[in-house]
Amino acid sequence: MIEIDGSMGEGGGQILRSSLALSLVTQKPFRIFHIRKGRKRPGLMRQHLTSLQAAARVGGAKVEGDVIGSEEVTFHPSGIHAGHYEFSVGTAGSTMLVLQTVLPPLMIAEGESMLILRGGTHNPYAPPFHFVVETFLPLLEKMGVHVEADLKSYGFYPAGGGKCEIRIQPSQNLAPLEILEREGKCQVHAVSVIANLSSQIAKRELKTVQGYLGLNKKQIEIRAVESQGPGNLVFIEIESDTVKEVVTAFGERQVPAEAVAKRAAREAKQYLESDVPVGLHLADQLLIPLAMAGGGAYRTLAPTEHTRTNIEVVRRFLDVGIRMEKERENAYRIEIGR
Ligand code: ATP
Repeated sequence: MIEIDGSMGEGGGQILRSSLALSLVTQKPFRIFHIRKGRKRPGLMRQHLTSLQAAARVGGAKVEGDVIGSEEVTFHPSGIHAGHYEFSVGTAGSTMLVLQTVLPPLMIAEGESMLILRGGTHNPYAPPFHFVVETFLPLLEKMGVHVEADLKSYGFYPAGGGKCEIRIQPSQNLAPLEILEREGKCQVHAVSVIANLSSQIAKRELKTVQGYLGLNKKQIEIRAVESQGPGNLVFIEIESDTVKEVVTAFGERQVPAEAVAKRAAREAKQYLESDVPVGLHLADQLLIPLAMAGGGAYRTLAPTEHTRTNIEVVRRFLDVGIRMEKERENAYRIEIGR
């Protein structure tokens, strides 16, 4: 049985989610201990437990340790079962992190799947729905996997109430992917999303982003949406011919709108000033699909601890080589292959 130390590297929930996904993909059982040891409140929280339960259903798995607070879990998968599933992540837990767990196995399953996910759709510290749709899924499409994602309602922390539907058409023959250059001129578009909050917040955010990135009026947009509770985020899309990067910052109580906007604008600027196509978050999320395809390469910004940790987890399950080479400050090349 594969043994995973959940305290390695980043020491967060990502180690569990990646292990679940890879266990299902490879059908290798695993035991993980010291779950989220690097976090203030270690062990399984609601969001992680939902991912574990979702993985168990998709994999018909035998599980031990699946309770809130658990710091050790064993997981024995038995197959990958395509189908129709509904997963609810408590009130506002991230639905996108549940998707991150079950999508790798379902995208190589023997039939189509349909997921209905309820909870948060736009959460800090998780891929926001728009990032998944605009950045991640088009790359899976290039690998031969067609995924349609439909946002039925927005869910923000803490009220939640979000819903999305995901339809997955798998492929047993994933194509390797190379994302090495950012081709063409970058088109930049900034959106401030507000739900049940004053439009002044959105205006202040976009003014800040405009000033910071030198955008004109056509490049900004206020999107007032309905949701069960209040919510606000700024996302900036940077589209080249190769990839559409989406950077996001979330509004928080007691944080001025300008400070929120600046966070997103700084990340966008860092990306624009580099010449690499793959941004900070996409870099850790591409590892599993490319390792499953048995090959690929991309150039990215200085890798986060998430990326480094995910590389370690992938190596435990799959016999693929992963090499990382620093070209210069903020330009790294990651290569996956046998
Ligand atoms: P915890 O232990 O608290 O659950 P975690 O390790 O599970 O933490 P994070 O470390 O916050 O969770 O990251 C989860 C995933 O969300 C990572 O794959 C990361 O790339 C992704 N992510 C976080 N923020 C963004 C963002 N703004 N855009 C896209 N992806 C993001």
